[in-house]
Amino acid sequence: MKKLCPFGTHRVIEPLGALPQSAMKLDNEMVCYDNEILCEVETLNIDSASFTQIRQACHDDLEKMKAMILSIVETQGKMQNPVTGSGGMFLGKVKVIGNKMNPNVEVGDAIASLVSLSLTPLNIKEIKAIHLEKDQVDVIGEAILFETGIYAKIPQDLPPHLVLATLDVCGAPAQVNKLVQKGDDVLILGAAGKSGLLVSYQARKSSDRGKLLGVVYNEQEKADLEILRVCDEIIVGDARQPMAIYEEVIKRNGGPVDITINVVNVENTEMTSILPTKNDGIVYFFSMATSFTKAALGAEGIASEAQMIIGNGYTKGHAELALNILRESPEIYTLFEKRYGKESL
Ligand code: NAP
Repeated sequence: MKKLCPFGTHRVIEPLGALPQSAMKLDNEMVCYDNEILCEVETLNIDSASFTQIRQACHDDLEKMKAMILSIVETQGKMQNPVTGSGGMFLGKVKVIGNKMNPNVEVGDAIASLVSLSLTPLNIKEIKAIHLEKDQVDVIGEAILFETGIYAKIPQDLPPHLVLATLDVCGAPAQVNKLVQKGDDVLILGAAGKSGLLVSYQARKSSDRGKLLGVVYNEQEKADLEILRVCDEIIVGDARQPMAIYEEVIKRNGGPVDITINVVNVENTEMTSILPTKNDGIVYFFSMATSFTKAALGAEGIASEAQMIIGNGYTKGHAELALNILRESPEIYTLFEKRYGKESL
């Protein structure tokens, strides 16, 4: 008889003693233990840094991508990209509720997981479709949520795939709500991405009259961000070019910013975040492509004392705050609907 653990260590195959997120391999047999919830999975929202890596490795060849995703899940029992270490989340329906669980959902309810796929036992029978434009993969599969695994019931008033996309990054705007103070000048790298749009909207609300600068990659993204009318300055540039972005920020803001939010999905953007930030400012790294080594040693190298924060995907009330942005902002709702679709489950 397995000793059931609230954090899911009873599913860890190797290395023993590890928690599910850092484990190499999980037991993904789809039986529902007493302290678990078993779900039918309809769609995986793959973390953007992971999806970008898979696309690049497979040169956007859908069959190769399918094979790569299936092989990861078969090898590890979970969808954790071995290069980026990141996961994503799933959209599905509750199928079985363990005997010792007392959740606020019933069998048949549509839910989105709020814990990473990098720690979620997953079994994929078939990949039905890969949506390159929205980092989502439709599957026939099943997954397990542990006792401590949080999830959100899909609300009636919003399309499920749009909810899934939003919940994937809901920690970012919620952390911005806590970090950004009235009057702060804020820089956002990747400001027109999924989390970028939510963060830009929230930063405007939180900083009130502070200056808001967004860095985007191309003119189309600039046009999307302009629709929100929240940024004072939009810089079209490459976030991997620290000096170019630094000079542009200093010119447009008249000096460094109080806080920088990094929501890009590519490597080598640590110094682009630290350089334009005040010495006693804050850098919030939400990007999964962030290197601790590059950030720590890079900051030391320019004698910056900026407080650097790891972008924890969880903060209290994060799902509700992000979904409320969709309800408050018709501009973001329309952009997300265009990007992530309005299909129902
Ligand atoms: P997204 O929608 O793909 O947004 C990323 C944005 O960065 C895109 O607009 C992208 O532009 C832009 N970008 C890419 N390369 C750039 C460059 N060199 N210069 C400037 N902009 C560039 O991704 P997301 O879903 O919002 O996720 C953002 C980040 O958060 C990812 O790293 C993701 O892995 C991470 N994440 C973290 C957590 C957490 O718990 N901390 C949870 C979920 C996601 P293009 O589309 O034109 O390339």
